[in-house]
Amino acid sequence: MIKMQDIVKKYPNGIIAANRFNVDIQQGEFIYIVGPSGAGKSTFIKMVYREEKPTSGKILVNGIDLTTLKNSKVPFLRRNIGVVFQDFKLLPTLTVFENVAFALEVTEHRAKDIKNRVMDVLSMVGLKHKMRMLPSELSGGEQQRVSIARSIINKPKMIIADEPTGNLDPDTAWEIMSILEEINLNGTTVIMATHNKEIVNTIKHRVIAIENGRIVRDEQRGEYGYEN
Ligand code: ADP
Ligand code: ADP
Repeated sequence: MIKMQDIVKKYPNGIIAANRFNVDIQQGEFIYIVGPSGAGKSTFIKMVYREEKPTSGKILVNGIDLTTLKNSKVPFLRRNIGVVFQDFKLLPTLTVFENVAFALEVTEHRAKDIKNRVMDVLSMVGLKHKMRMLPSELSGGEQQRVSIARSIINKPKMIIADEPTGNLDPDTAWEIMSILEEINLNGTTVIMATHNKEIVNTIKHRVIAIENGRIVRDEQRGEYGYEN
């Protein structure tokens, strides 16, 4: 579902954040992207949902060639990709319910269907009872659970998470992982950039390690393999 062929990303300042990435990712995989700060993890992730365009090479996502995809078609690509960030990026003036409902593609839904769908995903992350609260009234872990609910509201084929546990204490980080695991067990591909060595070494999945813009390791059930 993702294929990168000789992907190079050179930023305008001359930094090469991706130096010939060659990667194949199948539907249903769970993948950790690891590596030191500044290695190119976020760049990898941003190229998948077309936040950044590669300088050269070919990238296919869900059968769509992102190198030739018109900007006007990017929303079609993103319909099938849920994105989760380290800092949650919830809308502060909207309630939990509204934050999730806002992300729903509304075209052919009736109000009742919207409500049911939002309640379903909020139940899945254990936050139905807090649906009327504002993000500021929630803990960090709860805010991340709202952002995960938002990311799956349109039943995407793939979730991309950039350091989703980076701002959370260890117990809360494990809770977030169990939700991502459950989403993955339902068949959704999960790609997660992380610095969390304990999680990577405990819940084993494929590991793609990046250093200095190069993929230095790509292993099934891999180890974290860095000091920090
Ligand atoms: P990581 O996510 O592993 O910390 P990034 O992909 O964010 O790494 O960054 C890789 C390299 O590219 C770093 O040297 C970073 O400073 C640089 N970089 C990232 N984004 C930009 C940008 N928009 N413009 C210029 N350089 C960037
Ligand atoms: P992360 O914590 O996810 O690795 P960064 O701190 O590397 O993120 O980057 C934060 C934002 O700043 C990103 O949008 C990235 O593209 C941009 N950025 C990172 N490094 C640079 C840089 N050297 N020049 C310009 N923009 C950058």
